[in-house]
Amino acid sequence: MNIKQRALQYIINIRHNESSNLQRSAEKVKTRAFSFQDVSKAQQTYSASLFECNGDEKDKKVIKAKKAFEEALAKHKITFDALYPKEYVCEKCHDACVVNGTICSCSIKNYVDALRKESGLGVNTFTFEDANLDIIEDEKAKANLTKAYHQMKVFVEKYPNVKKNTFVFSGLTGTGKTCLSQAVANGLLNKGFSVKYVSAFKFNNDMIAVRTAPIEHQQEMLEDYITSDLLIIDDLGTEPITRNVTLEYLYLIISTRQERNVTTIISTNLDGDGIMTRYQERIFSRLTSKAFSLSYNFEGIDLRKL
Ligand SMILES: [Zn+2]
Repeated sequence: MNIKQRALQYIINIRHNESSNLQRSAEKVKTRAFSFQDVSKAQQTYSASLFECNGDEKDKKVIKAKKAFEEALAKHKITFDALYPKEYVCEKCHDACVVNGTICSCSIKNYVDALRKESGLGVNTFTFEDANLDIIEDEKAKANLTKAYHQMKVFVEKYPNVKKNTFVFSGLTGTGKTCLSQAVANGLLNKGFSVKYVSAFKFNNDMIAVRTAPIEHQQEMLEDYITSDLLIIDDLGTEPITRNVTLEYLYLIISTRQERNVTTIISTNLDGDGIMTRYQERIFSRLTSKAFSLSYNFEGIDLRKL
């Protein structure tokens, strides 16, 4: 199962619980209501009237009996709806949580919560609304960052109708590249897209695990890396390079994602030459491909010192 399938499973489980709770509380109301003799009697008259009129709820006799039943219930502060709750929590999707192939409005919030949990992004992460670029004094850094923030914000707004799918945020630690990747992640999560957020260190460990796993499990272990709408690998260059693993899997994942046209963001403290030296030509050319890729240089000021 991939991230979206797991998130769907999560919202269906929530709905199942809500629906069971509804039925359980109705059972409690029933036990209480029918312990009153007047209610019990009025209910029998109502049922009998329905039987007589072949279930026609518009028949005058049925309407009268129902009214008497409701009045009897009201004396004990019980409503007809509490006694006989509607069949579905959501009438729009009949509790499938999906309508016409998209998540029903009743479940969007739970779905986004589930996607966020699955993303590895954590809570209280940076959003576009948090950005305050005016505090940057270095004019060049400010111009670079403003351009990058603006273009990535437009990217999120237009997503999935976008042309580029691979972004490299390059700059020293504290220049704002992690904040920008988190802002993009939050923007896409809120639109119901799946995100996988990992540090380069975790990426490397995961790939070692894949490499050493039985071959029949490898595909499943790579699934989120391949299928998530957005993959963020944070701080590339800080992880150890493991022979036959780091470069091989990094290339496999970047190239597969480019071909599937899903988005990858790599943040790194390396510049172009540094990427070329450490990851070699094949990966470098994927990350700098004119057709798929866009690079931002966050050069300039250390934001953490402000
Ligand atoms: Zn619904």
